Amino acid sequence: MPDYETVEHDVLVIGSGGAGLRAAIEASAASVSVGMVCKCLLGKAHTVMAEGGVAAALANVDERDNWKVHFADTMRGGQYVNNWRMAELHAREAPDRVRELEAWGAVFDRTADGRILQRNFGGHKYARLAHVGDRTGLEMIRTLQDHGIHRGIDVHMEFCVLTLLKDGERVVGAFGYDRERGQFKIFHAKAVVLATGGIGKAYKITSNSWDCTGDGHALAYHAGAALTDMEYVQFHPTGMVWPPSVCGMLVTEGVRGEGGILTNALGSRFMFGFIPDNYKAQTADNEEEGWRYTQGDKNARRPPELLTRDHVARCIVREIKEGRGSPHGGVFLDISWIKNKIPNAAEHIQRKLPSMYHQFKQLGDVDITRQPMEVGPTTHYIMGGVRVNADTQISSVPGLFAAGECAAGINGANRLGGNSLSDLIVFGKRAGEFAAKFAKDHPAGQINSAQVEEAAHRALEPFQRNPGAEGPYQVQSDLQEMMQNLVGIVRKEDEMLRALEGLQRLWDRAGRVGITGHRQFNPGWHTALDLRNLLTVAEAICRSAIERKESRGAQFRDDYPNKDVALGNVNTVIKKGADGAMQIRREPIPEMPAELKKIIEEMK
Ligand SMILES: Cc1cc2nc3c(=O)[nH]c(=O)nc-3n(C[C@H](O)[C@H](O)[C@H](O)COP(=O)(O)OP(=O)(O)OC[C@H]3O[C@@H](n4cnc5c(N)ncnc54)[C@H](O)[C@@H]3O)c2cc1C
Repeated sequence: MPDYETVEHDVLVIGSGGAGLRAAIEASAASVSVGMVCKCLLGKAHTVMAEGGVAAALANVDERDNWKVHFADTMRGGQYVNNWRMAELHAREAPDRVRELEAWGAVFDRTADGRILQRNFGGHKYARLAHVGDRTGLEMIRTLQDHGIHRGIDVHMEFCVLTLLKDGERVVGAFGYDRERGQFKIFHAKAVVLATGGIGKAYKITSNSWDCTGDGHALAYHAGAALTDMEYVQFHPTGMVWPPSVCGMLVTEGVRGEGGILTNALGSRFMFGFIPDNYKAQTADNEEEGWRYTQGDKNARRPPELLTRDHVARCIVREIKEGRGSPHGGVFLDISWIKNKIPNAAEHIQRKLPSMYHQFKQLGDVDITRQPMEVGPTTHYIMGGVRVNADTQISSVPGLFAAGECAAGINGANRLGGNSLSDLIVFGKRAGEFAAKFAKDHPAGQINSAQVEEAAHRALEPFQRNPGAEGPYQVQSDLQEMMQNLVGIVRKEDEMLRALEGLQRLWDRAGRVGITGHRQFNPGWHTALDLRNLLTVAEAICRSAIERKESRGAQFRDDYPNKDVALGNVNTVIKKGADGAMQIRREPIPEMPAELKKIIEEMK
């Protein structure tokens, strides 16, 4: 055994966002020992940034809502390539998981009669998002963290996992370094849950935080697990475009849910001109009806600003490309106009959207109660990820589970806002439960010292390269620029083939980067180590996007602008081949049970 500190747990959870915390709580409730490692400080995982709310058919604001409507909305939003079993479990279980959060101390905004208040969001038929102003993620993290710590979970923060350790086919632990001191450590566990979040840092403009470098996706892939649906990267329609230092920072959909409208440089509310056929029946065809919807009129239909994110993002791109954009290259999002509709509009906006008010005031010197914001699309979320069993969240590798954004299935080709926070608590719970069960059913495996030594050697290589070697930041920046330009919102085969060639060159450069300094909190070293993950997910996205020769949800192909019926029946699946090369195949989506089909038909 190599001479590194070894920590033993029954279940090891990697990631301290909503999914990781919920998994850890559930595993610990099953009386197994639980360790949680996270690259960030505890309390700072990306989930803390979530704003608009958590989707659950509580029916507190609109009694017509129920799990079936939520299920049908999720499948329609995902363009029917979702894992229907996950979509079903999610819709059925989200209300209980939200009520459980409340019982554990989460203080949601309230209805007049004291129940959890719910707000409108894109693609959701009824007001469905339980929220805490526009700081829902903070409340979720605070609640789960308090609850988890009292359950006795061991937390190892600022620790970065570099590789999963295997005994034969099974995952039996993880190896990595603590960011502060740069010391290696082995985690020996009977089951491992990946809850590492998203991949936004593979792109130049993103709403994601620094640790969203696709580590879980890459760790699973290199351990032999299958990834699925990697072509589906969500570009949120509204990120800040100005000033440059905060370009990409999210502007919550809650702004549009509260009545915010999108206009172009001509002052035209352009979304009314682009309502897709399959949403026409559910969408307002005039401004008055759209406004009434946002104010809770149950007889009104949603305004077109609340169509799905993929569609709204593309409409914004078109306005900008056709010369009707705002001065800094976006379009206008205006909530201040509601002063024409309600008294005390400024106070109302500040109460409903406090973070947005401060974000624009402090970072852009814009008062959103008086002026429109300038917004444009930003890389926000990946629908693709580790392919898991819907009920247990186990991956295709024994002992390895995944939950939250790094797992795939529930969202299909496009995620509805609010469905991530509910995904975290529904499937985080399931992952924790079944990882604990796996740990109880299996003895500990053996740590393979050769795997540990290989990972340690690879991690230290950048220190040994000559002082003139290229640093990691330029490689990272070139990757982000290339993904943004060639594998972004609108895709073409020739551009993506160029991106694949570019990725090969970036892999070569990443293998030669050198760093200076020592191992104690060395950001250059951390970035050099992130490159392998970023390049792995970038390649998976690129190959999957090339393979899907159609436009569906978040994947828009300029060269194949329509849906292909046959491709609507398959998911793309990525695996590491025996030769180490990335392999892609199409896998048929299993037939949906008749009762679920009936729900979808009835809700059309
Ligand atoms: C600004 C913003 C607002 C949003 N608002 C909403 C919303 O209102 N509603 C909604 O449903 N969704 C929203 N989303 C999306 C949602 O917040 C995320 O999809 C979700 O929080 C992801 O949670 P997670 O638990 O999967 O991962 P995260 O919260 O991203 O946590 C990942 C964890 O893994 C750790 N980690 C990563 N790699 C490693 C490694 N190698 N070793 C150790 N630890 C590692 C990280 O440090 C972190 O602790 C929003 C996203 C953004 C950016």
